[in-house]
Parts: sequence; C-alpha cells; structure tokens
Amino acid sequence: MAALEQVSWQVDVPQREELEVDVLVVGAGPAGLACAIELKRQLQTKGLGDKSILVLEKAEEVGRHILSGAVMDPRGLAELFPDWRERGCPVESEVKFDCLDVLWANGKRTRLTGWMTPPALHNHGNYIISLYKLVGWLKEQAEALGIDVYPGFAAAEILFDGSRVLGVQTRDAGVDKHQQPKPNFQPGMNIKAGVTVFAEGTRGHLAKHLIARLELGAAQNPQTWGAGVKELWEVPPERGAALLGHVIHTVGAPIGLDGYGGGWVYGQKENRLSLGFVIGLNHHDARLDPHALFVKWKQHPAISALLTGGKLVRYGAKTIPYGGYWAMPKLQGDGFCIVGDSAGFLNSARLKGVHLGIKSGLLAAHAIAGALEQSDTSGAALARYTELFEGSWAKAELWRVRNFHQAFDSGFFAGVIDAAVQQLTGGRGLLARRTSHCDHESTRPVAQARLDKPVYNDTTALDKLTDVYWSGAIHDEDQPPHLVVRDPSICVERCTQEFGNPCQHFCPAGVYEWPAGHPANGDKRAGPIINASNCVHCKTCDIADPYQVIDWVAPEAGGGPKYVDM
Ligand SMILES: Cc1cc2nc3c(=O)[nH]c(=O)nc-3n(C[C@H](O)[C@H](O)[C@H](O)COP(=O)(O)OP(=O)(O)OC[C@H]3O[C@@H](n4cnc5c(N)ncnc54)[C@H](O)[C@@H]3O)c2cc1C
Repeated sequence: MAALEQVSWQVDVPQREELEVDVLVVGAGPAGLACAIELKRQLQTKGLGDKSILVLEKAEEVGRHILSGAVMDPRGLAELFPDWRERGCPVESEVKFDCLDVLWANGKRTRLTGWMTPPALHNHGNYIISLYKLVGWLKEQAEALGIDVYPGFAAAEILFDGSRVLGVQTRDAGVDKHQQPKPNFQPGMNIKAGVTVFAEGTRGHLAKHLIARLELGAAQNPQTWGAGVKELWEVPPERGAALLGHVIHTVGAPIGLDGYGGGWVYGQKENRLSLGFVIGLNHHDARLDPHALFVKWKQHPAISALLTGGKLVRYGAKTIPYGGYWAMPKLQGDGFCIVGDSAGFLNSARLKGVHLGIKSGLLAAHAIAGALEQSDTSGAALARYTELFEGSWAKAELWRVRNFHQAFDSGFFAGVIDAAVQQLTGGRGLLARRTSHCDHESTRPVAQARLDKPVYNDTTALDKLTDVYWSGAIHDEDQPPHLVVRDPSICVERCTQEFGNPCQHFCPAGVYEWPAGHPANGDKRAGPIINASNCVHCKTCDIADPYQVIDWVAPEAGGGPKYVDM
C-alpha cells in the first residue's frame, strides 16, 4: 500500500535547518486555530505560558484554501469564546428561514417547511457565515495571544522516530519539474515538536499516511466522502435582501434516487448567495462528474430563477468526510493528535463540521496542556483527548447519526426508512453497527455508465474550465507534479478499458485530461495529461481513483486556489 510509504518530492539535502517548538499545528482551519487558542490559554493558566505554539498553513494567506457552505452551529465557537458576537466575530446572518425543497425532474418543486423539514435540517439558532472570514478572525485572536501563525508553509512529510511523531518537514521550494533544484532552491525545514496536531482538513495527506502507517483506523469502517462543488453569486439587490438569512436545502433532481446528494442555497450579506451541490463519492457511475451535476442542478427552474440577472463571484470544490463515528481513526498516539475533518469530525446528516472541528480542537488542547504539564507527550498521556471526546456533546451528536450515511448504501428509500428508525432509537436504526466500504470500490465498469454532461452556456451553466478560472487556482508549473500517479501503466492498460478513466470526469477542476487520441484508440501515451496548475486541493482524485494510484501531495506553498469568502 502506497500510503505506507510517504509520497513526496523532497530533494535529498545533507542538512536541513531545524526549528523546535513545543506544539506544532498543521493547518489553520477552524479545528487547528481553535486548538492553538485554547492550548495557549490552558498553558497560561498552568503557568506554562512561555511554551511555543506554531501553526502552519499551506495557503499564502489563512482562509485562501478554505471552502465550506456554511451554516454554523455556534456551539463550538461559543465554548471557545462565550462572547464571540460581542468580540466582533464576522457572520453573514442569523438563520431566518429554512426549508427542504424536493426538485422534480419535470422542473417542479415541492417545498417542505416547518415540521415537514427533516430534523437534521432545522437551522434556527444557527448562523450563515463565510468560513474564510471566520478563520481570518480566529487567526487574529490566536496572534493576539502570542501564537505564531505561518501561512505559506506546507507540511510535506512527517518526521518519525519509530511510531513516535517528531514533527514535520516543510515543502522544499524552488525545485523544477524534473526534481532538480532551481537557482532559487530553498530546502524545507525540519520542525520538531513535543506534540504535532494534524488539522489538515478533509483527506489530509499527512493524516492519510499516519493513519495507514500506524493502523489508526484498523478497527473502524473505512472513511467515505462526498464531493462538494460551490459557487458564490451576487444577485440583484431585491432578491438578495429577500433571501438574506435563508437556508434552502434540496434533494431530488438532477440525481433523483440514484446516489446520495443534494444542493444548498444560503443567503448572505451584500446580495450574495452561496450555492452548491454535494454528491457521495460512493456513486457507482464511472462517469460521475460532480461539477456536471452541479451545473444540471443550477439549470433546474427552481434554482435558475434565483440566479437570473446575477453574476458569479467565485468557484471552488472540496470533499467532505461522511463516514461519521464508526469511521473515526484513533485520535492520538506518541507525540500527535488528529483534529477536525482529518479525523472525521463531521455530522453528515446536518452537513456540518465547523462546530465539531472547533470542539475537537478544544478537547485536544486540554489533553495536550495536561501532557505538557506532566512532561509526558506519549500516546498514553494524550489518550485523555479520546476520553474527553467520549464524554463530550460532540460524541453524543456523532453517536446519534452513527449509522446515518451507511444506511443509504442500500438505496435512497432504505436510507430514509432507516433514518426515520434512527430518530426513534437514538441513532441505532435497524442495525446496531452499519459497516461500509471504500468509495472507490463502488465504481462499476464504464459499460454500465449512464451519466452524461449538461449543455453549458456562458451565463449560469459555466463549463469546468471557466469555473476553474473563477477559483483563482494557480501553481508554479515548473515543479514536480503534486498529483502523483504512481503507476500510469494501470491507467493505460487497465483503467481505460475497465472504467474509461473516471479521473477525466470526477475532478471538478479539469486536472486530468485524456485527449481524443488516447490509449484506448491505440495512442501510446504514457498516461493522462495532468494539468496540476488547475488543482483546487479538493482531494477527490485521491479518494475516487478506482485503483488508488493517485496521491495528492502538498505542492509548493502558496500554490492552489485563491478563495475569498468561500
Ligand atoms: C461543500 C462543503 C460544504 C460544507 N458546509 C458546511 C456547513 O454548512 N456547515 C458546517 O458546519 N460545515 C460545513 N462543511 C464542513 C466544514 O467546512 C469542515 O468540517 C471544516 O471546515 C473542517 O475544519 P478543519 O479545520 O478540520 O479543516 P479545514 O477547514 O479544511 O482547514 C484545514 C486547513 O489546513 C490547511 N492544510 C492542509 N494540508 C496542509 C499542509 N500539508 N500543510 C499546511 N497546511 C495544510 C488547509 O489549507 C486548510 O486551510 C462543509 C464542507 C464542504 C466541503
């Protein structure tokens, strides 16, 4: 298994600069920043305020690689800052209205409101936010406490001593596409820490390696994911004002009963609408194209009516861990903790992970502070994190939906029936513990594929490459590809025949291209053309490739999407 080796492009250098900190956090999302903030406060109360905490972020600015819906349950944030509103934490709006729209293939819509809305989609008391703004604000709070936050630093490899995590090595800069140092070569640093917190978000590439190498998920279900495609729109002021604070979720078209997915429309300030579509990556169709489904969804009259006269502001995509409680890995080990999406802290029934990510960061912080106080950062000492989680509201919330996503593996109706039974049985449903399988195992041969592409236009139904332009994605092209196809011969000799190279469909950024004269037609090309510069860091390829030969690794820091307000 490749994940047992660290896949990376680091250059061999005789000696690297070293930096030592007490705690290193990899990833400045809500989970990582909450962890750093709470840890600093805990250490201060223990008289250990001089302990150093460093947060690394691969984006050039905190928030630029962040994408979410986002309707936030304020519970986690209110624990971190009980006065979060008075402190000026940015929100778009309180939720004023919520509903579930059933979109029919004939263009009609049935709106379910009030008691008819499934309980998981009740959002009163929650807030529509821009996660970009929230993490920007959290970064300010962290820095005010004396925490170092370094954007523009990607962690490339984990430093180990046996099974103990010693820290990370940051990504080399100035390496050309043949893996040779360029004149501006800047070797990455070894950053060593008593405790390293992995807060990389969904399908963190370091967490993926760590979980496989130390078998942290051995007793669990494999993690499963959805791929979310999002656009931010500005609409005419009257419509924008009318929709401010509205939370609309949709099921039905364009997937009907075929697959696990749905759409959202959230009304933000400044006449902006956050809209998107999420589809489970356990979909069987080899031509699954999350972006194409999103476009078809926008073409439904109930959605297109909202966009008329508006303009696109931003595009992006990201995966979401759906597996829930049974798919969470062991949360800690010698010298490390895993928090947030990287550990699967997400309630898939509610499509919410921000509050759980923050809570996981808080819980890890308490355990780490205790470990540092005792000068014992072993896995046994850090196991306090798991104990705290097991006794927390986060566990209680995830326990209530522990079988939710897996129940839909047997089809939409089976899932709905089981979800109803789960409501009555505290989350148990018809089976005590539902298992699942890896998403990529669901893909059926291309001969059975039925999905097709929408008819694109240049107003609302934009094609993939136009959308990618609106993500701002860019990478230095003269660097080793950060999408590593370990064995391109599999793509050519097997995948083309069996699955028709699904990478050309599932990637929402058009990274993988199989031009017309591809190997199926006798072309001896060695594999796909990889437009790595387009990559929006969603990790869909790493998850959905049927042979698991694609590894997403950190590119040179700063490369990637340039999200604002996503
Ligand atoms: C389409 C979509 C819609 C969603 N809607 C909602 C919603 O409405 N409400 C809700 O509560 N939740 C929602 N979520 C889930 C929510 O966004 C996540 O649960 C939450 O962002 C997880 O926080 P995190 O800190 O674990 O990870 P992230 O927010 O992903 O942050 C991780 C950070 O780590 C950085 N990073 C990654 N790897 C490295 C590396 N090697 N080196 C340095 N930095 C690195 C990333 O650039 C990123 O900034 C949604 C998610 C998606 C994809």
